[in-house]
Amino acid sequence: MQDYSDAPWVDPSFGWKPRPVTELPERVLIDFATKCNLRCPMCPVWGSDDDAAIDAVKGVLDVAGARRILDEMMAAKPLVQPSMYGEPLLIPELRGRILDLKSRGMTVAFNTNGLTLDWEVAQFLVEAEVDSVFFSMEGVTRDTLKKIRGVDKIETIEAAVFRLLAARGEKELPRIGVTMTKQDGNLHEEQAFIDRWAGIVDCVRTSLVFENGTYPDMVVPEQRLPCPTLYTTMPVHNDGTVTICCLDGFKSTGVGNVLKDGVKAVWQGEEFAKVRYYHETEQWDKVPFCEGCNGWAQHEFTEEIRDGLFIRRSPQFVYYNRIDRMSNWKGRLLGGHPVPPSADQLSIAATASE
Ligand code: SF4
Ligand code: SF4
Repeated sequence: MQDYSDAPWVDPSFGWKPRPVTELPERVLIDFATKCNLRCPMCPVWGSDDDAAIDAVKGVLDVAGARRILDEMMAAKPLVQPSMYGEPLLIPELRGRILDLKSRGMTVAFNTNGLTLDWEVAQFLVEAEVDSVFFSMEGVTRDTLKKIRGVDKIETIEAAVFRLLAARGEKELPRIGVTMTKQDGNLHEEQAFIDRWAGIVDCVRTSLVFENGTYPDMVVPEQRLPCPTLYTTMPVHNDGTVTICCLDGFKSTGVGNVLKDGVKAVWQGEEFAKVRYYHETEQWDKVPFCEGCNGWAQHEFTEEIRDGLFIRRSPQFVYYNRIDRMSNWKGRLLGGHPVPPSADQLSIAATASE
């Protein structure tokens, strides 16, 4: 790890002892294509009214450049999410790119709006052993989907979920889930959404919406801590720019470029180190993008076993995991979660609590 403790921007009065940073990131979000068939109001890019700003960031990461990045990071075998501000199934040359990731031993997980997931795509995702596919459903009715995502094709998305389940059959992968980002327009359907899907898919996830630089509905501990994402996750935009956070769709927090400088040089670079230093020394005002954000509190989980489900809750997320479908949630796919108990242990605990 690079040592910046004597750098000119360090104020010695803080007695800064840098937290360890891994050689390479364990989780990488790569926006292979900033391209989407929707314009969800909550999207960090496509939700903007500023078309010129969107035009400035949309684009596609070229295959050769992407391979260079992957070659460098493969030693860490990271979890890779091949999209941030795009619908992953619209990525040009998607199949080759997924195979590029899998052939380098990486764990591949993504969220999709499901609108273009036909039988051929479903079969490919199963054959390629993509590790996780979560469908952004947002509710159980056309009206709610229309409000949240601007499209009312809930039957199309539901059919895509069942298509992927059918293509997977008895196989282990992908882990299949559905998600809901809770907001005024769909809160009334939260329980119906959980009831609809908890016995069908492997995992139902609900989360809070990010608005105006923070999660307005999140209840956080009093003591603010450095944001854990700065130590685990590298967000890479389609031109190779790395920002400190995936919530920064318009690249206001660039800390380097992996196409020009390489992955390790950016991850361990001075600009990223400065941000971590400001967090560790509680100088939040020095990182305006983070100053008013409470996302640092999203990673502490409590656990509950109920109704055949292993439920993990943090201030931001709730994961309802089917106990009989836990075996495909492991390794890098845990994304920093503590390793869950085995399905056998969970079944025993569930029986004991009845
Ligand atoms: S589907 Fe995803 S990438 Fe597309 S606009 Fe909605 S949130 Fe953004
Ligand atoms: S504090 Fe918020 S904006 Fe900053 S890195 Fe964490 S989640 Fe992102």
